[in-house]
Amino acid sequence: MRPSRLDPLFAPATALDGVGAKIADLLARIVPADLAGRDVRVGDLLFVLPHSLIDRRNRPGIAAAPEGAIVTLDLRVDRHQPSPRGRSNVPYRVFAHDETGEIALTFFHAKQNWLERALPVGENVVVSGRMEWFNGRPSMVHPDHIVNATEAASLPLVEAVYPLTAGLSPRVLRRSLEQALANVPDLPEWLDEALMRRHSFPAFGSALARLHHPAGPEDVDLDNPARRRLAYDELLANQLSLALVRARIRRLSGRPLSGDGQLVEAIRAALPYTLTGSQQQAFAEIADDLARPERMLRLLQGDVGSGKTVVGLLAMARASEAGGQSVLMAPTEILARQHFATIAPLARKAGIETAILTGREKGRERREILAGIEDGATGIVVGTHALFQDEVRYKELVLAIIDEQHRFGVHQRLALTSKGVAPDMLVMTATPIPRTLVLTAFGDMDVSRLTDKPAGRRPVVTVTLPTERLADLLDRIASALAEGQKVYWICPLVEESEEAGLMSAEERHSLLAPRFGDTVGLVHGRMKGADKNEAMRAFKSGETRLLVATTVIEVGVDVPDATIMVIEHAERFGLAQLHQLRGRVGRGDKPSTCVLLYKGPLGETATKRLSVMRDTEDGFVIAEEDLKLRGEGELLGTRQSGTPGFQVARIEAHADLLETARSDARLVLEQDPELTSPRGEALRLLLYIFGRDAAIRLLRSG
Ligand code: ADP
Ligand code: MG
Repeated sequence: MRPSRLDPLFAPATALDGVGAKIADLLARIVPADLAGRDVRVGDLLFVLPHSLIDRRNRPGIAAAPEGAIVTLDLRVDRHQPSPRGRSNVPYRVFAHDETGEIALTFFHAKQNWLERALPVGENVVVSGRMEWFNGRPSMVHPDHIVNATEAASLPLVEAVYPLTAGLSPRVLRRSLEQALANVPDLPEWLDEALMRRHSFPAFGSALARLHHPAGPEDVDLDNPARRRLAYDELLANQLSLALVRARIRRLSGRPLSGDGQLVEAIRAALPYTLTGSQQQAFAEIADDLARPERMLRLLQGDVGSGKTVVGLLAMARASEAGGQSVLMAPTEILARQHFATIAPLARKAGIETAILTGREKGRERREILAGIEDGATGIVVGTHALFQDEVRYKELVLAIIDEQHRFGVHQRLALTSKGVAPDMLVMTATPIPRTLVLTAFGDMDVSRLTDKPAGRRPVVTVTLPTERLADLLDRIASALAEGQKVYWICPLVEESEEAGLMSAEERHSLLAPRFGDTVGLVHGRMKGADKNEAMRAFKSGETRLLVATTVIEVGVDVPDATIMVIEHAERFGLAQLHQLRGRVGRGDKPSTCVLLYKGPLGETATKRLSVMRDTEDGFVIAEEDLKLRGEGELLGTRQSGTPGFQVARIEAHADLLETARSDARLVLEQDPELTSPRGEALRLLLYIFGRDAAIRLLRSG
């Protein structure tokens, strides 16, 4: 249950004065939190932080106020000059003066009543706004602030500038924020005292007050102590919730899995190659985890083509030796079929029964597969998320391998757990995620890395080519096809008309077909599953040798004898995606080429991306460059700006705090695993405030 002292922050924003449904909708657009369909709450507004300042401390007097500058003027009002009747396009002017000169305060579509009250003739007022000189005459159009001289203190001399959205006036936003701030209850400190001192952190409430009422430009910096305090709070909430999930997963541990090594050996012997050093190392780490009584939670990171699948297979063979079942879950059906095609023959040689389960197996076939899973005859099941539907009952599921985790997310991981099974978990990803992102997205996961490419892998030569040289490219492709090579041709779109001026896969296919005839295939995301599989099969078997595709083939598709990758509109793709696509070639023993076909003129970022691609094949270098060029949000496939899932923290500025938060969280849970100490209770408040309270439900006393 949420502590009632937090209720004011969890009240709907409409509870604030002056906020109705309409304004609440506008507020929802600038709130940094992921509302996931719920209404905006008062507490969400706290983290709408100013990004810059308007400094109104400049008071030069009318005569010395420069054109375009924000100034504050102390004036005496002389006279009003309303718009002539029926000519509302002529502005309403109020003339006023100070000792240096006269100024016209100018208003369009003015409300006379309001102006007469705000600027009474003969009174002293303070106004602040942007100075304009028109034909040598000073004016200020719609001053930002007008106050009576007796209330001069209420004028914000240093004014915070907030993100805005059309229809929401700064005044309304300000008023809502002030109320939200006033609603922040007195809360016990959840941070360690020594840590606060070391970082000069103010208390939570003071930090918020400081950021919303900046005294100078330093108060809107990402690295001022108030901002860092809130960033730390958020990172700590993140690390704590991930650590709670992890502790819970560990607690639900299955049993130690060990074996005599026979099945693993049989598979190793059946491989047409020897394992690389890092494959052996990764398997050793996994086998070690499996043999422990706690549950395994491990990330297997390896660049495209580094050979993760076989490491997964060896782990599953070990699970079979221990008498248990394993699943391998892929994000798409194509990938699941491909994994199955690799795994099934090898497993068969070791005497392990395998099955595939996706949305496509139906009727009797499906019943047989389900029966085999239920009675335990099937040792390894490969599939999509269909693997975890209610109808699937495992006899003894001990190991779950998830390919390409970043497409699933923590929720799926928990869903597995709530099914009542607690298998060891291995997550395979081809995205070389930098450590900071592993930490924020997965928490303190164990990581194995495949760093060396399988022997015999050839480097891929990468060239960039403007579309004007398409004819040359087509000639080269013609001769490559004549030699029996296979070519991928990637387009950004499925069909024409989605976006003007871009080549679509269907269009490119119909342009290539007349020249290359039956050798041209087509595969894209809008095709039915069966048609997609058929197109992939035909390409794999060589019936087609030029495959026009969208990015459906981005992840994991394995056609080792494909040697040319053409990426059309390469300027439109992100680095991570280009890298994944390029990884589809260079998998066999023949030299391969990647052609980045672009339509100029190229922007700065696109130019940089293409040159990074030309310069390196190292996935980690590319990931780091990607982080610099695009921000880490897109690297993880999320679209929002800033650090994904965070409202206040920015990884580029607060990475040092992340490490501290990680060890802080770990220490807290070691000493107080159920968060019941006074600090633990305070930390629960923190989890609620940052929307990480799902983790609290994992606590026994939650
Ligand atoms: P990824 O890490 O991208 O998932 P895969 O597991 O699909 O890579 O492996 C890519 C290709 O490399 C497959 O054809 C696989 O058979 C092959 N392969 C894997 N390990 C080795 C190795 N040690 N030596 C040679 N080829 C290997
Ligand atoms: Mg793979």
